[in-house]
Formats: sequence, C-alpha cells, structure tokens
Amino acid sequence: MFKSAYLNQVYASLSQRYSDQPEFLQAVEEFVSSIDVMVDKDPRIQQNAIIERIVEPERNIKFRVSWVDDKGKVQVNRAMRVQFNSAIGPYKGGIRFHHSVNESIMKFLGFEQTFKNSLTGLPMGGAKGGSDFDPEGKSDNEIMRFCQGFILELYRHIGPRMDVPAGDLGVGAREIGYMYGMYKRIENEFSGTFTSKGIESGGSLGRAEATGYGLCYFVEEMLKTYKNDSFKNKRVIISGAGKVGLMAAVKVHELGGKVVGMSDLSGVIHDENGMDLELIKTLSKTSALVMNQYKSYHPEAIYSPINADIWKIPCDIAMPCATQNEIYIESAKDLVANGCWLVAEGANMPTTIEATQYFRDNNILFAPGKAANAGGVAVSGLEMTQNAMFLNWTFKEVDAKLHEIMENIFKKCYEASLIYTGKPDDLVAGANIAGFLKVYYAMLQQGV
Ligand code: NDP
Repeated sequence: MFKSAYLNQVYASLSQRYSDQPEFLQAVEEFVSSIDVMVDKDPRIQQNAIIERIVEPERNIKFRVSWVDDKGKVQVNRAMRVQFNSAIGPYKGGIRFHHSVNESIMKFLGFEQTFKNSLTGLPMGGAKGGSDFDPEGKSDNEIMRFCQGFILELYRHIGPRMDVPAGDLGVGAREIGYMYGMYKRIENEFSGTFTSKGIESGGSLGRAEATGYGLCYFVEEMLKTYKNDSFKNKRVIISGAGKVGLMAAVKVHELGGKVVGMSDLSGVIHDENGMDLELIKTLSKTSALVMNQYKSYHPEAIYSPINADIWKIPCDIAMPCATQNEIYIESAKDLVANGCWLVAEGANMPTTIEATQYFRDNNILFAPGKAANAGGVAVSGLEMTQNAMFLNWTFKEVDAKLHEIMENIFKKCYEASLIYTGKPDDLVAGANIAGFLKVYYAMLQQGV
C-alpha cells in the first residue's frame, strides 16, 4: 500500500491491533501516506521507532463519571483523556461531549491534534478527551453536575504545564466554565488550566471567533497564492452552524464572499440572497436546530432535511465545518459537478480518504483541517500565554496574531509540499510533513 516497507509493516500491525478503531486508522493512514515520500530517506526514523511511537498515545486515561439528574436518579457515563504526544509542549486539545464519543474517535482527534499544534509554531503537545454524555436536552444544573463529576476524576491528570483542555463538539464556554470552576476549587489556584474560558474567567478575546476566522485567513492565502484572487464575489457553502461554521460564515461575508448554503442537524438551507447570519445567531440562542426554522423567516430560501444535500448547491468554495466524515465520494462528485474548485476543512477529518483523492484527481484546491482549522488551538495557545503573564490582549491584537499564525501555517504547508512532493499545492502532504518534522526532531532530541 505504501512505498516504504517499514511503513507497511507498522501500519499492518497497527490495523491488526486496533481493527475496531476505524476513525483512528483512517487518520493514521492519511498521515502515513503523506510521509511515505520522506521516511526511507532518513534512516533515523526507523532506527528510533519514531512511527511506532508516534501512533501510540503516551497515556490513555479512562474513567467513569457518576452524576445525579434532576429527578434524583444517578446516571453513569464513560469518559477518557488521550494524552497523545508531549514532545513539543504540554498536552493540549479539546474535550467533546457527544453520544458518539469512543476510543477510536478520541484517538483520531488526539493524533491529528499533535500535528496541528505543531503547525501553529507554539509549544503545545497533542491530546483529546471527552465523554458519551450528551448535553442536548439536559438542564443547566445537570450539565453543571456532570462537568463537576468529570473534573473530580480528570483534575489529577491536568495542569497548566501538564495538560490544558479546551472545548469541542458539545463543549462551549458554559461547560468550560463549570469544569474550570471545579478544577479551581480542588486545586485552589487560578492557573490557566483550561482554554476557551469566558472572558471574565481569564479567557482570551478572539477565541470564540478563532477557528472560523483562521479558516478564512488560510483560504485567503490559498486564493492569493494559487489564483491571485480573493473571497470577493465567491459563492461559499458551509456545513455546520456551530462555533466554527458560524464564525467562518461571518468572516466570509466580511471578506466580500457570499454564503449561499448552510446546514445543521435539522437540515440544509440554500439561500441565494446570502444566508441571514443575524437570524441564525438569534435562533441558535434557544435551539440547536435552526435550519428547519429558517424558511418561515425567508420563504424564498430552499430547505432540505437531508444533510448531504448541502454539497449539491453550486458554489466556488465549500467549507465542511460540522463533524468527521461528512463528505463521502458521492458528495465529492456532486461538489465537483456543480463547479466547486476549493474545499477547506473547518471540521476535523470531514472528508473521507476516497473523497480527498477524488478532489486531488480533479485538481480541486484542498485545505486539510489539520492546517486550516488550527486557528482555534493557536488562540488557545495565546490564551495560555496571557494567563501565564497575567495580562489581556485586545481583540485586535489577538486577531492580528491569529492572522500571522495562519499565514505562517500556510507557508509551512506550501513549502513542505514543494520540497517533498515537487508540487506546490499538495497541502495534505505539506501539513502532515511540516507538522511531523518538529515533533520528530523533538522526540529524537529527548531520547527513548
Ligand atoms: P459545535 O457543536 O459548536 O457545532 C457543530 C455544528 O455542526 C452544529 O451546527 C451541528 O448541528 C452541526 N452538525 C453536527 N453534525 C452534523 C451533521 N452530520 N450534518 C450537518 N450538521 C451537523 O461544534 P464546533 O463548531 O466547535 O466543531 C465543529 C467541528 O470543528 C468538529 O469537527 C470539531 O472537532 C472541529 N473543530 C472545532 C474547533 C473549535 O475551536 N471549536 C477547533 C478545531 C476543530 P446542531 O446544532 O443541530 O447539533
């Protein structure tokens, strides 16, 4: 499957050991395919078992969370924190609360996070955590009790220089607030052990916008470099209307593009007048299901309850910002057939390997999430710096730093692609190789 016999052997044994972890294997396969071009040229990689070590988490903490619901009944959930790699800094990565959370998904996310964090240039290792607890439909008090129970176990494994969690699917400022509050009570210290905190609790201005805005800054660099162009008058579709998708839509609009389609779990809206982002923001305050309400405010818009229909809307740029594996080969074909020429991943691994290959075969410019959605964790890194220095930067300062970081990430991916593949636009390979090199050199320096 790969050119390198060493990689074939490592991947075969990994697939055998973790045959029940498809998302994790998918993430490793994509990574290994990219570094295939350089691994055999550097014998130290095999000699030091770098790949065998990099695909195994340093630690995986699994625990039970018991909590009491509003009816007085005890509920039990399963949780874990995968501390993947700390070669270049303390573990850093989000926490996800969703019924789908399992070891495969946590490991794929922690693995990807390692390289994403490396690309930001900031000293952060990779981790991910979560629970199969679903905040949807729970009261505020139930969420608080669950978060407190979660931290009652996790607190002993995290700390400002050890492991700094953040938000993800199902975990926003409210959940972070409850977790940080409990952590602070136990440890009796005000240290920046969580990021994405509320501003009053030591959070950074610009963190809420960072992933979506950063995604657009990355795409701006692609448009400038490959097309001598900008977002002006581009038709954009965005799946997901959550923390990432909505902020990406706001920035696209600001940069002169037009968002003509968005989706959430309730369905898809196609609005040729441009999506009404203020309406989405307002409706989101009271419900997670917004798209099925949109049409009653804009009767001219087209609604579909089928999530994959978003990829049938004619566009120039598609930004999958909802969840993993949302673009399968059929949707990739729909996108290409309807004129899309740039795909930028706001979510983590939203495109399957087959669909990614289809985009490459059809010369579609492709921004992998590992690089393009790194703005969120980059500003989390800036939040850690502000907490450590006991000062707050303005929104403008944070946004300017984010812009610079995203430009640099693009530059690193572009250069690695050119040097190692001979092509300037294989950003998947570029991101994997550039992200890997820093972690690899640090591992080498630190011995076995
Ligand atoms: P949110 O929970 O805030 O938003 C997710 C959005 O996607 C919601 O609108 C949700 O709909 C929608 N959604 C979920 N599943 C589907 C689906 N199958 N089809 C269509 N829409 C769907 O999460 P985030 O925005 O924080 O995260 C989105 C993705 O981005 C995840 O992959 C995450 O790992 C990644 N990411 C997030 C970062 C961050 O800073 N938040 C940083 C880097 C990556 P509904 O509201 O109806 O549930």
